[in-house]
Amino acid sequence: MGTRGCNQIASLSEPGPGDGGRTGSWRVLRPVIDTSTCIPAKKGIMACFFCWLYCPDAVITRTIPPTIDYEYCKGCGICAEECPAGAIKMVKESTFV
Ligand code: SF4
Ligand code: SF4
Repeated sequence: MGTRGCNQIASLSEPGPGDGGRTGSWRVLRPVIDTSTCIPAKKGIMACFFCWLYCPDAVITRTIPPTIDYEYCKGCGICAEECPAGAIKMVKESTFV
C-alpha cells in the first residue's frame, strides 16, 4: 500500500549527533578525511558531501572541509564506502593512542 494521496499527518524524525550515546568509544577504525582529495576541500565549492548525507549518526559537517565529531563517530565506515573520491580512509584507532 503506497502513501501517495494519504492526507493523514505523520511525524518524522531525523538523526542527530549523540542520539545513540557517546558511540565514539565503540570505534576500532577511525575515518580520516584527506583534504587534498576531498572534492569540496580541494575545489573550494559546496559540492558532494556524500559522507555528510550517509553518515547514520550525523556527525560529519557540511562544511569546507567536512569535519568529523569523533566523540560520536562509531567507526562504521559508511562514509568511506560512499565517498566518490576515495578521500576517507579507515585507520586503526590504535594508531592514535
Ligand atoms: S564524500 Fe568524500 S569527497 Fe565528498 S565531501 Fe565527503 S570526504 Fe569529501
Ligand atoms: S565512520 Fe563515518 S559514517 Fe560511520 S559514524 Fe563515523 S563518520 Fe559517520
